[in-house]
Amino acid sequence: MPRRLDPREVREDFPIFSDPKWRDLIYLDNAATTQKPRHVIEAIADYYSRRNANVHRGVYELSVEATELYERARRKVAEFIKARSWREIVFTRGTTESINLVAYSWALRNLKRGDKVVLTEMEHHSNIVPWQTVCGLTGASLSYIPVNEEGYLDLSELDKCLKGAKLFAFTYASNVLGTINPVGELVKAAREHGAVTVIDAAQYVPHAPVDVAGIGCDFLAFSGHKMCGPMGIGVLYGRSELLEEMEPFQGGGEMIREVRLDGSSWNEVPWKFEAGTPNVEGAVGLAAAIDYLSEFGMDQIRSHELRLTERALELMAGVPKIGLVGPENPKDRCGLISFTLADVHPHDLAEFLDAKFRIAVRAGHHCAMPLHTKLGLTATTRASFYVYNHEGEVEVLARALREALTYFMVS
Ligand code: PMP
Repeated sequence: MPRRLDPREVREDFPIFSDPKWRDLIYLDNAATTQKPRHVIEAIADYYSRRNANVHRGVYELSVEATELYERARRKVAEFIKARSWREIVFTRGTTESINLVAYSWALRNLKRGDKVVLTEMEHHSNIVPWQTVCGLTGASLSYIPVNEEGYLDLSELDKCLKGAKLFAFTYASNVLGTINPVGELVKAAREHGAVTVIDAAQYVPHAPVDVAGIGCDFLAFSGHKMCGPMGIGVLYGRSELLEEMEPFQGGGEMIREVRLDGSSWNEVPWKFEAGTPNVEGAVGLAAAIDYLSEFGMDQIRSHELRLTERALELMAGVPKIGLVGPENPKDRCGLISFTLADVHPHDLAEFLDAKFRIAVRAGHHCAMPLHTKLGLTATTRASFYVYNHEGEVEVLARALREALTYFMVS
């Protein structure tokens, strides 16, 4: 039986919320990073207190144990996202590094002048900039699937857009609009055109069940720190056949089989992509985070966030002069809401919410400048939810926004 998700009880699992300084904090910046439960903090402390050694190279017991922990974490990740094999899981520093790995190890070597890379207008900079760089180096061209007024991808010309594409990279869920994209349909269309698919799942894996084998994508990236895990650890899922034929991303220790003065050969997948001493602490922490989230089950986490999003959209829609960004239907959204309030600058609003209501939200372009340009905005304020947020907090947010109108003398 999964543990019942009662957000007020869940809050008790997170030491930061019992710190006298942050006891009354309403933390709504989970799309940027989540807080860490005791379980994860203790797993990391335990690793350093009782199991720390460098991995893979040691023959002594402590190093063997550390290696086991690291590799067990990989197996746990594989199971969590339903990969066919643990060999399809590469540990990276995060989503950004995972996408760069594909850009440099796959795209740089497989694209040539005249080839086409397709993205969408709702991408985070980390799913735009690496492709711009690689297209600049190879002479391949870049095009974008447009976003419509309702905040969805305009798929009316999908086939036309994908014609001749070598690679299609898109987000599972937008970190600004909240839109959850129909990834199965997008992958299917890409496959029909022979394009390799890369999914940025930074805003989805932490919040709902994911089945990479079922989706059929070639690559999928996410970060540990947005799902209760530590910073500095992330995952690249890659389909075995592709990982096998790819060249390494970085060179150094661990990723080699043999080094001679006149050349080198590579280790097996996935270690071929993990040059140097890996982030063992990060992998251990991520495994603990997966255990923690699995207590509730990802379906229950999704339902909880959906309820919160529904309530928040309903309450926020009643605030005068608010501009809600993204799909109206909460079911099409992940648990985040970006908005504008009259002509109050999002930075001023975020400071007001923090100073007067202890509400932490993010303000700015959220690393999605092209999308903001498309929306005709320079910045938005974003509230994003997780397992420890409850309806009472959403109600305070709606009240605070009304008070902001008075405070900023919006008439
Ligand atoms: N993609 C999306 C959709 C994101 O929201 C983020 C984090 N803001 C990233 C990529 C980058 O993740 P990281 O900074 O952990 O590499």
